[in-house]
Amino acid sequence: MKDGNCIFCKIANGEIPSTTLYEDDDFRVILDLGPAARGHALLLPKEHYANLFELDDAVAAKALVVAKTVAEKMKKALGADGFNLVQNNGEAAGQTVFHFHMHLIPRYENDNAGISWKPGETTPEDMAEIKRLVEAQ
Ligand code: AMP
Ligand code: ZN
Repeated sequence: MKDGNCIFCKIANGEIPSTTLYEDDDFRVILDLGPAARGHALLLPKEHYANLFELDDAVAAKALVVAKTVAEKMKKALGADGFNLVQNNGEAAGQTVFHFHMHLIPRYENDNAGISWKPGETTPEDMAEIKRLVEAQ
């Protein structure tokens, strides 16, 4: 299903032009217009899924294979030193476009892309509680 009000549906299906690095029946990989680092790309399914939790299982499985294939080509072509796959779900997690997408971000020594977090703290008790809560679902 497509969402007529969704910009990524329109880009993924070619209604809005994009710089496309890869396309097949199910996905399009485009260059991000606000790149964190040179070559930052977005993998978009052609069907509309708002986020990871709505994603069809078969599409989810294929997404990682496509991401791997395109990431390998990008890393070689651009001479990247490393590579991040980033995928945000929900405003609290930094999602701004509510059509599932995976960020493919080539990384270079000293690129200052800043995709990191400050390690926090936990306790054995809280780790045990988290394990209990998740396993109870
Ligand atoms: P997120 O914050 O995970 O939802 O990521 C949204 C990403 O989409 C950001 O990195 C934006 O720079 C990018 N973006 C938004 N609109 C466009 C567009 N029309 N073409 C390419 N990238 C876009
Ligand atoms: Zn969409």
